[in-house]
Amino acid sequence: MAMVAVTQTGSGSNNDQVRRHNLSVVLGLAHRTGGLSRAQLTRRTGLNRSTIADLVGELVDRQLVVEAEPDSSGQVGRPSPIVRPNPRAVALAINPEIDAITIGVVGLGGTVLKRVRRPTPVNMSAKEAVDICAAVIFSMRSELDTRYLTVGIGVAVPGLVREQDGLVRLAPHLGWVDEPLAQMLSEATGYPVVAANDASLGALAESTFGSGRDVSDLIYLNGGASGIGGGVIAGGVSLAGITGYAGEFGHTLVNSAGALCHCGAVGCLETEVSRAPLLELVGLQDADADELELALTASGSPAVRAEVERQLGYLAITLRNAINVLNPRLIVLGGFLGSLYAIAPEHLNHILAHQPLVAARQDVTITRTQLASDLLMIGAAELAFESILFDPASARSALRGG
Ligand SMILES: [Zn+2]
Repeated sequence: MAMVAVTQTGSGSNNDQVRRHNLSVVLGLAHRTGGLSRAQLTRRTGLNRSTIADLVGELVDRQLVVEAEPDSSGQVGRPSPIVRPNPRAVALAINPEIDAITIGVVGLGGTVLKRVRRPTPVNMSAKEAVDICAAVIFSMRSELDTRYLTVGIGVAVPGLVREQDGLVRLAPHLGWVDEPLAQMLSEATGYPVVAANDASLGALAESTFGSGRDVSDLIYLNGGASGIGGGVIAGGVSLAGITGYAGEFGHTLVNSAGALCHCGAVGCLETEVSRAPLLELVGLQDADADELELALTASGSPAVRAEVERQLGYLAITLRNAINVLNPRLIVLGGFLGSLYAIAPEHLNHILAHQPLVAARQDVTITRTQLASDLLMIGAAELAFESILFDPASARSALRGG
């Protein structure tokens, strides 16, 4: 959420705090919008022009923003330069899944500059995952050190993560229990590492850069190789619950006569709605979200259509409950859930339109993620950028390389 700039008053140390806060406000605006002129920054913050000039100057010195001439075509007079996030200030993003690890380089401003996908061994241990990541990062190292200023690493984990120290409490599909993932990755790469639940980071990315930019109440559901995760933004605040595990829509009941879930319950959403039968129907063993969607869309098979509609039927039950409980403005579907919806939007819309909802159905928009397959890379990077966005004055020690 946007922070408000503060005008300076009071003692010297108080002024230093105010200045650090305002640096954070200006950097945050450049980061979230992709770039604003000094005049726009002045209007958006309420600070005066010379203060903005001064803050921008410091952010340029710290290599967090650049000032560039705008595209002046069609404008009269001399256009003012745009303050943009420095694309060379980057975070590394990691998303381990049961079939592959994806590693990305993401620039400040949420731009994915590079993405590498490495298929992984069956029953990969946390140690093996760390070794694969370290090898990929090592192979990028000279590029990272010469072309970029690297803030650190953010990891999107398909499981429950203790955010203070990046300990993976439980990643059921990966079979990881109490793995100190952030610490292991930090020791293997030398970068600071932060980690969080993948769906929470997806919700954060979508609400910062995607379809949820101006939405205070949204629900995000992601379908990955490791099942279904979710995140909730309620009243503009990320809903965490007392231990950070809120939003586990994958384990809500959709079929009381359904199969036993790995969580111990029966008929969870993720036992009925999953990637594996979709892959099987289109004859694929392994595919990323884009490849699976292409195969599903290209297939004219009635069996595929029937499976897509069956899964959307169960998804609709979870959505009905979520709409009634949380009264959201927006429901964002990511991963293969976005693909299911894209293939048969009228089917899901029809089911929801014919269910009695207390919360008005017409107030809710269902959409797929705008950020598509970059979503978790951007979310993981956002986590890594968090400390620098909060206190840009700490950037000199945090930025490496250059
Ligand atoms: Zn379950």
